[in-house]
Amino acid sequence: MKLATKYIHAGTEPDPSTGAIMTPIYQTSTYVQEAPGVNKGYEYARSQNPTRKALEDAYAQIENGKFGLAFSSGVAATDAVIKLLEPGDEVIAANDMYGGTYRLFTKVFEKFGIRFRYVDTTNPENISAVISSQTKLIWIETPTNPLMNITDIKAVAAIANNAGALLCVDNTFASPYLQNPLDLGADIVMHSATKYLGGHSDVIQGCLVMNDATLREKLYFIQKSCGAVPGPMDCFLVLRGIKTLHVRMQRHCENGEKMAAFLRNHPKVSQVYWCGFTDHPGYAVASKQMRGFGGMMSFTLKDDSVENARRVLSSTKVFALAESLGGVESLINHPASMTHASIPREERIKNGLSDSLIRLSVGIEDIDDLIADINAAIG
Ligand SMILES: *Cc1c(COP(=O)(O)O)cnc(C)c1O
Repeated sequence: MKLATKYIHAGTEPDPSTGAIMTPIYQTSTYVQEAPGVNKGYEYARSQNPTRKALEDAYAQIENGKFGLAFSSGVAATDAVIKLLEPGDEVIAANDMYGGTYRLFTKVFEKFGIRFRYVDTTNPENISAVISSQTKLIWIETPTNPLMNITDIKAVAAIANNAGALLCVDNTFASPYLQNPLDLGADIVMHSATKYLGGHSDVIQGCLVMNDATLREKLYFIQKSCGAVPGPMDCFLVLRGIKTLHVRMQRHCENGEKMAAFLRNHPKVSQVYWCGFTDHPGYAVASKQMRGFGGMMSFTLKDDSVENARRVLSSTKVFALAESLGGVESLINHPASMTHASIPREERIKNGLSDSLIRLSVGIEDIDDLIADINAAIG
């Protein structure tokens, strides 16, 4: 099935009790049983909910996986993956990833005896260099947030597979429209559905998708035991969001390309980080594993003082100054003080994330208005 058809029909069947074409919001905590233990497959809503079930099926379908699991946020989905591990186990993670993932790893899980090693995964040899028999999981993000670095998923999957470790890919930035990590050998795909999947900045949610039934059982056990499940209304919103993913992503890609070209030609802009430039170091790999390059990008100004960056960040009229990304509306963000403030400054600078970096989530408004807005803000 082609993507457009898949996204519109994924997971949703007419409701069996009424024929309602849209999956109803089953706002219930429990289900009446005919006799003790005799039920219709639903017992208690932390374990099962029909709206969530439709969405979990949709997640599986749009990531070409067998099983989907929905969580109350992206970080709750990440949290569930790390809970597969035991004290003493080691995780190799990318050194340039979502700040909240880094915070969860270093501030929450390290104290339970799980060890994290951070390497530059754009060169998979850096992973081979530190992998050991203790390594149980490799965690990557591609393109990365916010520097748009690219990691070769297929190459890392081969390394993980050889070592008997799982590979989990945070696919939030690409969305399933641009990239499907399971097809490239990953074991688990994670999304912050808060971003492109929901697509309208109105819900917090996360998901995991996998092919292996045993892995699904383990993660389902964690989902129901730890209880970070989304409510049915939130599941309904993401189900609705997914139906237009292809249309939105097409426009994000078109607008992204035009904005990146505009910034690159602007005399006051120093560097533009966007993986669709043919001279981007990850371009060859990106063109191999992605269907397009999306609307996420970062840039620095020639006057690279923090004051100048702050001035631009505060002067846009259409771009809203906010954390998050992937919604229909354009957002501008200052990683150093906003999304990535949880990473120590030293670490940030070492990884190339300077204090003056500005990140854009280019939305699907008219591109002429978006360019005019950024042009005026740069001044
Ligand atoms: C937002 C985000 C997360 C965290 O997801 P939440 O839904 O905010 O919990 C994880 N990874 C990436 C790349 C993100 O952008």
